[in-house]
Amino acid sequence: GVHGVRLASGTTPPPAPVALVLIDVTETRRVEAVRRDFVANVGHELKTPVGALALLAEAIEGAADDPEAVQRFAGRIAHEADRLARLVRELIDLSRLQGGEPLPEFAPVDVDTVLAEAVDRTRTAALAKQLEIVVGGETGLVVRGVESQLATAVTNLLANAVAYSAGENRIAVAARARSGFAEITVTDSGIGIPRKDRLRVFERFYRVDQSRASSTGGTGLGLAIVKHVANNHGGSVSVWSEEGLGSTFTLRIPLDAATPLPSTAPVDAS
Ligand code: ADP
Repeated sequence: GVHGVRLASGTTPPPAPVALVLIDVTETRRVEAVRRDFVANVGHELKTPVGALALLAEAIEGAADDPEAVQRFAGRIAHEADRLARLVRELIDLSRLQGGEPLPEFAPVDVDTVLAEAVDRTRTAALAKQLEIVVGGETGLVVRGVESQLATAVTNLLANAVAYSAGENRIAVAARARSGFAEITVTDSGIGIPRKDRLRVFERFYRVDQSRASSTGGTGLGLAIVKHVANNHGGSVSVWSEEGLGSTFTLRIPLDAATPLPSTAPVDAS
């Protein structure tokens, strides 16, 4: 408080920390606003599948004497439940990644293992759309980080490549060593991203087009998770894309300084 402050004679009073206080309040307000938006978004996102489930339950009741309709509604219930489960899983991932909890210990992580894990997790979805996932680039790279987080990040990129590609195309995933980083690229020849949306796709719940995104069962959280993983590792994620031609997402993660680069690494041609 101001009362009771007594300055020793002959000293100038220290400048009041007005600017500091203002910045503090602005930052607090901003954080509060972001949090409010987030809660509102989560509420909205949860309402959709929950509402659909309620309607479908009613529909099934009304169709008791039509086994085919019951089958169809049951299938849609399973689909909505899957979507809900994925949303909840991603929300938990995201809240863990964006702070509060201390980061797990960093350790040397094999990039090949991360890529194999991510390909494994997206293989079924790719097969269903007759998409081929091709792994290329350098092998034997080692980064520093948390393997599970890195696998989640690459899985999200691959899952998007599958979701936003049409059939009989290839998806390429590759790793390269460049200036102290492992650059992991995921390239598709899918629908691409309009220029105006290119930076915003990393925001939570941001989707280029609600209608096209909802048909893929997306949550709008996948790339926000990738960005958090990249930041947590002292790395980055960026995108190159051309509408109608496809997209390349590049995830950069610092190489493990203690592990020598594989001698088999090809000379960088570019
Ligand atoms: P979603 O769960 O909707 O895929 P993401 O955060 O993973 O959420 O992606 C956000 C949006 O960015 C998507 O809804 C989609 O519009 C766009 N997007 C992401 N990856 C791609 C891609 N490989 N090709 C085209 N659009 C993409």
